Amino acid sequence: MRLPLVAGNWKMFKTVQEAFVFAKELGPLVKDITDVEIVIAPPFTAIHTVAEALRHTSAFVAAQNIYWEREGAFTGEVSAAMVKEAGAEFVIIGHSERRRLFGETDAIVGRKLQAALAAALTPIVCIGETLEEREGNQTLAVLDRQIKNGLDGLTADQVADTLVLAYEPVWAIGTGRVATNSQAQEAHAHIRGRLRQWFGAHAAENCHILYGGSVKPDNIEGLMREPDVDGALVGGASLDVQAFVEMVTKSRPATL
Ligand code: PEP
Repeated sequence: MRLPLVAGNWKMFKTVQEAFVFAKELGPLVKDITDVEIVIAPPFTAIHTVAEALRHTSAFVAAQNIYWEREGAFTGEVSAAMVKEAGAEFVIIGHSERRRLFGETDAIVGRKLQAALAAALTPIVCIGETLEEREGNQTLAVLDRQIKNGLDGLTADQVADTLVLAYEPVWAIGTGRVATNSQAQEAHAHIRGRLRQWFGAHAAENCHILYGGSVKPDNIEGLMREPDVDGALVGGASLDVQAFVEMVTKSRPATL
């Protein structure tokens, strides 16, 4: 069974102090929630503080990025082992902002994915089409390319036991324009179908596929009711602790 997973991507928001205040508020609010996996991805600078503040709670911390080398002369980069040591258990890889603004390719996503697995971090790999690609009927082809190239070399067990995918249509990220429930389900069913074809039924049934793109407290329930939507990767709406907890609560299996 796939437990729902709700992850907050804070992007480049919150100082260490602001992150600490959020985490201290979050802990007690989610202490009785054991049927949703909860993940917060603060900036690198706040990973350690947030992980410490959430230590005895059910919430985990993610990094928003890593570099694939273990160490070396790579000014400005941070390794998988470094974020793990700081307290991260998850890492977001290949977010569309990284692909668009920082030139990350599927090949780079693949290298980061291997580095994450080697450091025992759970990767959340983001895929999704641009508006132009959707309007050109390229959505499924883009997803196929990103899955095939980005996940190249992964074993069926790694897909089943560790991998999290996030379908994030680029046109829905930070725009307030959420995909309809059926658009999300169509993409998720396609992704799961490809996982079944390329990694087998067990991998496909166990891999979490999150939806991301303008998820808010008032639209998460409809998305979560779709059979292949296993959770959400939330940007803007995860910055407010009450809104975040509301989205976690609305994702609980019993409430759907
Ligand atoms: C994201 O950053 O992954 C995201 C989905 O952002 P937003 O929820 O703000 O659209």
